[in-house]
Amino acid sequence: LLDGQSVDDHQITVCVRKRPISRKEINRKEIDVISVPRKDVLILHEPRSKVDLTKFLENHKFRFDYAFNDTCDNAMVYKFTAKPLVKTIFEGGMATCFAYGQTGSGKTHTMGGEFNGKIQNCKNGIYAMAAKDVFVTLNTPRYRSMNLVVSASFFEIYSGKVFDLLAEKQKLRVLEDGKQQVQVVGLTEKVVDSVEEVLKLIQHGNTARTSGQTSANANSSRSHAVFQIVLRPMGSTKIHGKFSFIDLAGNERGVDTSSADRQTRLEGAEINKSLLALKECIRALGKQSAHLPFRVSKLTQVLRDSFIGENSKTCMIAMISPGLSSCEHTLNTLRYADRVKEL
Ligand code: ADP
Ligand code: MG
Repeated sequence: LLDGQSVDDHQITVCVRKRPISRKEINRKEIDVISVPRKDVLILHEPRSKVDLTKFLENHKFRFDYAFNDTCDNAMVYKFTAKPLVKTIFEGGMATCFAYGQTGSGKTHTMGGEFNGKIQNCKNGIYAMAAKDVFVTLNTPRYRSMNLVVSASFFEIYSGKVFDLLAEKQKLRVLEDGKQQVQVVGLTEKVVDSVEEVLKLIQHGNTARTSGQTSANANSSRSHAVFQIVLRPMGSTKIHGKFSFIDLAGNERGVDTSSADRQTRLEGAEINKSLLALKECIRALGKQSAHLPFRVSKLTQVLRDSFIGENSKTCMIAMISPGLSSCEHTLNTLRYADRVKEL
C-alpha cells in the first residue's frame, strides 16, 4: 500500500497495536495471549477452564484496517494512521486521532513519544511526527501560497474539567454559544513557525502532564490529553483546518466504579460516560444528527466541531497489552474498537 492510499475514501480508520511483552511481565511469568497472523487480523487466545478443569483455548478473532504487531515501531504506526490525515486539514477539514486502551498498553508511548526510563523523547511520537509533516506540507508549492498560520495547544480533561498543559495546568471554562460553537476560554494557543517550536511545546506539555504525581502515572491514566494543531489563513480568526490528537484515559478506569473511595468512583463514572459518548459520536461522524451525545461529556463537547464537519476524518488506535492478566480489559478494548468501525 502507498502512503494514505487506503484511508482516502474512509472517514474512520480503526487500528490495533500490540505492545511487546515487558521485562516486568516476563519476570512475573506472564504469558503472551495475543497473535497477529495478518496485517489486519488480531487474535486473543483466552485460556478457559471447563467444569472438568481441563483447559481449552477460546480464540477471539478481530479484523481491523490494520493490526500492528509488537515488532512495529511508532513511525510505522504513524504512517498508516495519522499521516494520511495531515492532508485533510490542509484541504479545510477536521482530523482526529485517538489512542484508546487500558493503562500501561502504550497510549502515551505512541502519542507523546518513547520513554527512555522516565524521560520521554517526544520526537518519535505521533504528535511530533504529524507536526513535522504539517510543516513539510505547508512548504509545498500547492499550499505555500495559501499563507496559513500554524498554532498549537495542549490541554488535559480530568474529571470533567479542562486544564491548560501550556499554562501551569490552569483550569479553563468551556462555553457554548447559541450556535453550538464550543470554546475553551483562555486556552493557550501558540503560533509556531517551525517544527522545533512545536517540539518544545509537546515536551513542555508532556512534562506538565506527569508532574506533581505521586506514583508513576496515577493521574495521567485518569485524564484525557488533547494536543491540537490549528491552521488559519493569515490575519483571520476563522479555522481552516484542525488536527486533534487524544491520549485517552485508561479504559479500565471506567469499569472500576466499585472503589471504596468516592472521588475514584466519580472519576470512573465520568470516564465511562465520556468513552461511551465518544463511541456514539465517532460512529455518527459527519452526520448532522441532533441526538448525538456531545454534551454528555467534556471530551465530546470540546471535540464537537471535529465530529460534525462534512470533511471530518478520524482514526482510532486501540492499544493492547499482551499479557494473560490483561485478558479481560483487552477483550473490552477490542470490542469497543470493533463497534467504532465503519458499518
Ligand atoms: P499508557 O499511556 O497506555 O498507560 P504507556 O505509554 O505509559 O501506557 O506505556 C507503558 C509502558 O510500556 C511504558 O514504560 C512504555 O515505555 C512501554 N511501552 C509501551 N508501548 C511500547 C512499545 N510499543 N514498545 C516498547 N515499549 C512500550
Ligand atoms: Mg499514558
